[in-house]
Amino acid sequence: MSENTDGNGNGVLGSSLDRRAFIKQSALLGTGAIAAIQAPWLLDVIDGGPRRQIEPTVDFALAKPENIIYSVCQQCNGQCGIKIKIRDGVVVKADGSPYSPWTMRPHVPYATPPFDVATVEGGICPKGQTGLQTGADPYRIVRVLKRAGPRGSQKWVSIDFDQAIDEIVNGGDLFGEGPVTGLKDIWALRDAEVAKKMSGDVSKILGEKDKDKKKGLADKFKTDYADHLDVMIDPEHPDMGPKNNQLAFVWGRLKAGRGDLIPRFTKDAFGSTNAHGHTTVCQGSLYFTGKAMSEQFVEGKFSGGKKFFWQADQESAEFMIFVGVNPFEASQSPPLRARRCPDGSLQAQVVHIDRFGNVVTDVRAGDLPQGAFTVELAGQQVPGPVRTYAQATGLAAIVGSSAYLEVALPNGNAATGLGTDIGDAVLVRLGR
Ligand code: SF4
Repeated sequence: MSENTDGNGNGVLGSSLDRRAFIKQSALLGTGAIAAIQAPWLLDVIDGGPRRQIEPTVDFALAKPENIIYSVCQQCNGQCGIKIKIRDGVVVKADGSPYSPWTMRPHVPYATPPFDVATVEGGICPKGQTGLQTGADPYRIVRVLKRAGPRGSQKWVSIDFDQAIDEIVNGGDLFGEGPVTGLKDIWALRDAEVAKKMSGDVSKILGEKDKDKKKGLADKFKTDYADHLDVMIDPEHPDMGPKNNQLAFVWGRLKAGRGDLIPRFTKDAFGSTNAHGHTTVCQGSLYFTGKAMSEQFVEGKFSGGKKFFWQADQESAEFMIFVGVNPFEASQSPPLRARRCPDGSLQAQVVHIDRFGNVVTDVRAGDLPQGAFTVELAGQQVPGPVRTYAQATGLAAIVGSSAYLEVALPNGNAATGLGTDIGDAVLVRLGR
């Protein structure tokens, strides 16, 4: 194709106008005006008339309906309809779906065959375009990884999805370290009738404000459900519910469709009340629940509640499923809760030895716990943190100029002293 034509003698936009003249006239008249003059379909778009359509003038692979998949962009909460274009099995382009009112107005009727709209594009934002990068991210985990060594050894094997499901559900000696509880073991209360009745009685206990009456209701619960106390997390605290609640399903922003499936699994099928989305905890709790929970009974009425957050009980949960968040990076706010998942410890590794022999880890400063911690490396316990190298009297943990955690030895070579090297496992524990 020449610069000015499509190779068939036609100018840009399917007109007799060549590219240079187009730019020149655009500068004089304004691009919108000249383009509209030369391209009648643009007038339609501008005035909200029929959708635009560019007739491909060459055999363009991405304009073939068999190379297009219609989907939904998940790069933000907008969830625009998109058309994904594929070449040799690889996603190479994202555009707006003409079927979506989010990206084209008016959108094409849903019954329109995809053959008719293969060359019709809606508009999506730059962030939506970057979905390709997310899909092709080399660090994206697309297989199930199972630990293949002691915790912190950074050894993994990839296993079949079926095997993962089997092990998660049934548990067993999965790591050669003794029995691991399976999901089936905390699916303790399975009688739907009992669960429904119990739920009502637990609600009564939770709703009772009088301390003595509340205790009376709890005692009655123990009598009424004497045959089922083995399924409770704590029979002395029926309000904590059955062991089923030890499955926590925590997700980020999930809406429309996907979000509907989670309560069906977590609540309806498994019987756990611990299904919490980002919005559930960020907004519902902050503005309503947290405030109500802190109300004080003063002069005959509850008042004076303060806003605060609540979260799923991550410390007591046996299983946690995170979707759309990485609990070790950020999780839902407040992010510091993520530290409690692995007993407050961070698993890391040595990524660099600098010219002074300082051992640089991949723990970022922002990921470190507040206060004292201990770094376990090469069989040594290194206290931290020190704020400056001068404060260290021996091996010490410090955040270096690169903002990563280092182990340093003043007037010495920490790497040699420890006998450590790049790739060695590091464990950061809370406290000394
Ligand atoms: S195309 Fe842009 S606005 Fe639409 S969902 Fe994707 S990121 Fe959000």
